[in-house]
Amino acid sequence: MSNCCTECFLDEYLKERIKEEGTVGDCDFCGGKSVYVIDPNELQGYFDPLIDLYTAQVEYYPMELLKECEGRFIWEILSEDWRVFDDWEKGQEIIEAMYPSHHEDTPLFLDNYVGREDEWYGMDTKLSDKLKKQWNEFCEEITYRNRFFPQKKMDVDLISEVLTYSENIIAIGEFLFRARLSPDGEMLSAGEIGAPPKDIALEGRANPKWIPYLYLASNSNTAISEIRPQVQNTITVGKFKVNKQLSVIDLRNPYIDTPFRWGDRLAFVLDTHHFLRMLGYILSKPVDRDKIIKEYLPTQYLCEFIKSQGFEGVLYKSFLGSGHNIVLFGEDKVDCIETKLYKVTSIKVESEEVVEE
Ligand SMILES: [Zn+2]
Repeated sequence: MSNCCTECFLDEYLKERIKEEGTVGDCDFCGGKSVYVIDPNELQGYFDPLIDLYTAQVEYYPMELLKECEGRFIWEILSEDWRVFDDWEKGQEIIEAMYPSHHEDTPLFLDNYVGREDEWYGMDTKLSDKLKKQWNEFCEEITYRNRFFPQKKMDVDLISEVLTYSENIIAIGEFLFRARLSPDGEMLSAGEIGAPPKDIALEGRANPKWIPYLYLASNSNTAISEIRPQVQNTITVGKFKVNKQLSVIDLRNPYIDTPFRWGDRLAFVLDTHHFLRMLGYILSKPVDRDKIIKEYLPTQYLCEFIKSQGFEGVLYKSFLGSGHNIVLFGEDKVDCIETKLYKVTSIKVESEEVVEE
């Protein structure tokens, strides 16, 4: 029997478990003396849900691709993607000690490159086939079948718990920006640049019709870019000051904390995580204004879910500007302190040829 120690791992949650469940002794893997140690076998229960996500690539990868690309072993994935080990060679020793019997039963797992079959990206490098399928099913239901009470049930408590790890606090005193076209060249006042009155509020990516949200950006140029102006347009930019701390969900890079916290729920947690990423992606994606109203329904639904869990907005990347966007579900925690008039002097266009697949 050999022991590993707290210092063999980078993951804080695992370190805590070793302190709680282990004893003081010497580490056989990193050589640490008088540290908290544990038999790697006893950590298997924490590792199983994570390792179960992966299967040997030979089982699902097309052979011609397998030959071409370098794969990764599970300990490399644990080190690089999950920051479990700082050094994959030590990780390999620990994993092999953790799964001695597994090794004999299913040599595929330790002797082969592994990957997540459900994250098989096919030709599209951004979104996995599984995620696209789940997203399309969700959109189909919300748009064409059950808008207010979808039959596919959400695990509200778990999703709410996952959301807390992607919370981003916007502090008092921070500035946010909002741009509106000023077609006649007249600057809007601070009182005119807020969210529209409810009776005339049109639907947006995040808000349903008649429920106005406040669309803001992290800097004025991003705010201007987001309204997709023409050269020579005049635009009013309002500068908003945060007067009370705001709690928003950051969709740029949703976070789930340690994978070891979730036990058997890990696969579902990761699905939720990917769904949030998808929401961030769809919110950021510039869409054709005429055919978007229908496409807004799923994002409106998910934003309302986030609102129902007590968060005050969502934050997502801007595809059009250098900063990010923030949508607030209410405008009582920000004040417009000044407005300025801008004229658009140039617009940068980049393009690429559309190649049929
Ligand atoms: Zn150690």
